[in-house]
Amino acid sequence: MTQTDTILRASHTAFQQYKKVTGTDKAIFLDALAAEIEALGQPLIAKAMEETNLPEARLVGERGRTCNQLRQFAALVKEGSWVEARIDTATPDRAPLPKPDLRKMMVPLGPVVVFGASNFPFAYSTAGVDTASALAAGCSVVLKAHPAHPQTSEMVASAIAKAIAKTKIPNDVFLHVQDSSFETGKALVQHPLTKAVGFTGSFSGGKALYDYATQRSEPIPVFAEMGSINPVFIFPGALKVRSEKIAETYAASITQGVGQFCTNPGLLLGLENAELEVFKKQLSEKMKLIAPGTMLHPGIANNYSKNRAKALEQTGVQLLAESNERPKENQATSTLATVRATDFAANHLLVEEVFGPYSLLVTANTIEELKTAAAKIPGQLTATIIGEDEDLVTYVDFIDLIKEKAGRVIINGVPTGVEVCPSMHHGGPFPATTDSRFTSVGTDAIKRFVRPVSFQNFPQHLLPAELKDENPLGIWRLVNNEFIKLAGASLQ
Ligand code: NAP
Repeated sequence: MTQTDTILRASHTAFQQYKKVTGTDKAIFLDALAAEIEALGQPLIAKAMEETNLPEARLVGERGRTCNQLRQFAALVKEGSWVEARIDTATPDRAPLPKPDLRKMMVPLGPVVVFGASNFPFAYSTAGVDTASALAAGCSVVLKAHPAHPQTSEMVASAIAKAIAKTKIPNDVFLHVQDSSFETGKALVQHPLTKAVGFTGSFSGGKALYDYATQRSEPIPVFAEMGSINPVFIFPGALKVRSEKIAETYAASITQGVGQFCTNPGLLLGLENAELEVFKKQLSEKMKLIAPGTMLHPGIANNYSKNRAKALEQTGVQLLAESNERPKENQATSTLATVRATDFAANHLLVEEVFGPYSLLVTANTIEELKTAAAKIPGQLTATIIGEDEDLVTYVDFIDLIKEKAGRVIINGVPTGVEVCPSMHHGGPFPATTDSRFTSVGTDAIKRFVRPVSFQNFPQHLLPAELKDENPLGIWRLVNNEFIKLAGASLQ
């Protein structure tokens, strides 16, 4: 028996018990987990700083977001309506055939393999959103720690173990795997007991895991969030009245966290005119003043310098600005480049992510050129429109086209900064993710790890509480086409 086999069998056994745990008890567990992470205190932050080079304030904020996520899922499963209960009562005397009693709700998929992300040691790693949503759904989790922050991951895993012990959840509901080999990741994805995969990272990594999953004799869903260049369309009316402010805001957004965000604005697009020329200079000046920053790990720093060099050597691409200060070891220099829209549209390499503080300004002569360039941009997590009211009217058809490209469309903002709330969609058409129908941020992330089951003609005593006539949990249900919540109500 291989190590992977032992792990997945244990996870599967734990799942058989955990899937029966009530929403209230799962909520107690998730709340306890948030408290245990907080109880790790400053040593957790110090360890993460040491392993990731991220600053203290960022990590404190990210830990807060992680605990907030856990508590949001706790509240969701405690309330209970997330299971989308539907009830259609029987009509035995319907002609020509009687109508059966049908009741449907979401149930957990089974063991989920989660890959920790390098760029979010808390929020998308060990107890991050993939783990939190899978546990909330009632799935067991096998977590493959990211090799860039193994000890941080170990500390968070110890908090999970404590929360499990305190709340009497089956021990192996969460299993932690530390092994930086692709073979282990592949074996975890391909194990027959694995039922789904959560991933955040590179396109090559996510696509490889997706391919492993589709090669299985029983294919399984892989929810991979991969690269995104997050195009920002800047319209003339906005540049006329607030070009300096836009430059300031975008210099900060492009370089925030050394550009190591999947929502980093890696592509700016505008219509050539005098105002765009002024904006180019303003943004260049601001980018030069932003000092190089140390990246998460040497591999990411090497990738940045390699991918940046490759982008800068493409036909028609010109370097506009880079940090005045020279970068030291493992540091990334802030970079702004520019290219004409016709050259951009002719070169598919220019839509590849340069993960780091890099952005490419695409300039178009006409709205038609801009449309052609936009058509070459593949699926994205976000797309942003910067415009005055007049722009939003003049370019309404263009904006309509942009909506097809991305999971989140922003007017007059920046794509960085992802609010954690039910209406957030953090996903997008391929290659941004492997499944554009689902989000990896916000409580809807739970939907990735469940499937609907219909119960036909089940006696009351065999039905889950969520579907019993008297609605003992008091949840919202669609009963004979009407949303109702009354507990204790008779359905007849
Ligand atoms: P990564 O290479 O995608 O790796 C993430 C995880 O996936 C690691 O645990 C890795 O395994 C695993 N993995 C990757 N390829 C695999 C394969 N073929 N088979 C099995 N497992 C595989 O991401 P990274 O290490 O964080 O950074 C590398 C590059 O990814 C960065 O330079 C950046 O360009 C990009 N990135 C993008 C984002 C984004 O949000 N868009 C975020 C992070 C990174 P091991 O543990 O065995 O290495």
